Formats: sequence, C-alpha cells, structure tokens
Amino acid sequence: MYIDTHSHLDAPEFDDDLEAVIQRAKDAQVETILIPATNLASLDRIEQICSQHPGYLYPMIGLHPEEIDNDYQQQLDQIHQRLDQNPKRYVAIGEVGLDLYWDDTYAMQQTDAFEQQIGWAIQYHKPLMIHARNAHSQLIEIMERHRADNLSGVFHCFSGTVEEAQQLLSFPNFKLGIGGVLTFKKSTLPEVLRQAVPLSRIVLETDAPYLAPTPHRGKRNESAFLSATATHLSAIYGIKTENIALKTKKNAFFLFR
Ligand SMILES: [Zn+2]
Repeated sequence: MYIDTHSHLDAPEFDDDLEAVIQRAKDAQVETILIPATNLASLDRIEQICSQHPGYLYPMIGLHPEEIDNDYQQQLDQIHQRLDQNPKRYVAIGEVGLDLYWDDTYAMQQTDAFEQQIGWAIQYHKPLMIHARNAHSQLIEIMERHRADNLSGVFHCFSGTVEEAQQLLSFPNFKLGIGGVLTFKKSTLPEVLRQAVPLSRIVLETDAPYLAPTPHRGKRNESAFLSATATHLSAIYGIKTENIALKTKKNAFFLFR
C-alpha cells in the first residue's frame, strides 16, 4: 500500500542483509521502492538489484550534486549514454540538484550539471528527483527559468518554511518528498505542512539509510520504517493512515506511472 519514492538500497549499509531489508519492507506493506542513483558506480549496483527484484524495485538515473567536482562532465556523458540506450528502464532523473551545505566550491559545476540533467528530463519526458540543500533561492531561480518546460518531479526531503513550500508548490507538477524529518521532536515541518501543503502535493520517502524516523532515529533507516512517517501525516491531516497511504500512492503514480 505504501510507495517509498526514495530509498538508497544500493548503499553499502545494505550489503550484508539487503534481502532481509526488502522482505521487511514487503511485510510493512511497502509495495514499491524507487531507488535514486548518485553516480555511475551506484547506477551499476542499482541496476543489478533492480533486475533481481523486477516489479518491486525501480531505478532512477542521474548524478548527485555532492558527486560533482572538476571531472563531472565525463561522468555525466557516460550516464547520459546509459540513459539514451534504454530510457524506458528508468522511472526518473535523479537524484540531481544543488548541495551547498559543506561549501560552494563547485556551485557553478553543480548548476551546469543540474541544467544538463533537466535537459534529459525534457528530452525523455521523465520526472526529476531533486535534491537541494542550502540552495533554495538558487533552485527557484533555475526552476523559474524552466517554468515553460512543463517539468514534473519531487522536491526530495523537503524541510523548509511555509514560504519555501509555497514557492516550490508554485510548480504545478511537483510534489514534496516527506520522510523521517517530519517525526523529529523539534521539527517545524508538521506546522508547515498544516499551513501550506495539501496532501495532494506529498509523496512518502525514507531516504534510507539516512534520516530514520522516530522511534528509530539515529539508526540505519529502511523502507519498512515508512509507516512511522505515515502515522504522523495521519495526525496532521486528520485522516486514517490507510488513506494517507492511498493518497500519497496516487500522487506517486501521477509522477512515476
Ligand atoms: Zn537521496
């Protein structure tokens, strides 16, 4: 009944017990898991595990902003080639975007790589899985430049303000990816969602192995923990958890079909 729209099952944290992790997800009523790529090596691993679980795991393709340094163009070209060989194989371009959290040394390169990958989304009619950290205004600027391109996708791991939510939701075919951060004790996200985000604009995600929801906080996250986030959404929107599952699934289908 749930769709985890963002789970890094290719991460080394899952090397030892991936099959058990997938089984626990199924037992926790997660019916589909989408896996974002971060670089070329992750893409290889993702394709391998997705082909072992057809109809359950689905790959994305893209170069993550934190993977970008001076040699990004070469890797980007190789990834594009892979996409071009079999575009139907991938459910989205991701994860892509901007990450200026640690420093902004490669801000220009990140912007260029992001723009090129937006070009792929346009060319192959794919949704985008967008990662943006400490880069909200830069993201909006790029998105505005592409407003006429009718892009779709997810602003993954949203944890901003009411105003930021409103700016992101002004792009009509985008949803906000909501995960474990919602459940953290001091999170302002519940109030932001209540004020500014209709349920029709939310998809569920774990971002596993990162950002495990309470009561698993600090541990390795996994897709089976998605229900903890759904329970919080249920309290915020005042509807049953089953309906949270149903509606967020519909939102995910709208994007990823
Ligand atoms: Zn991610």
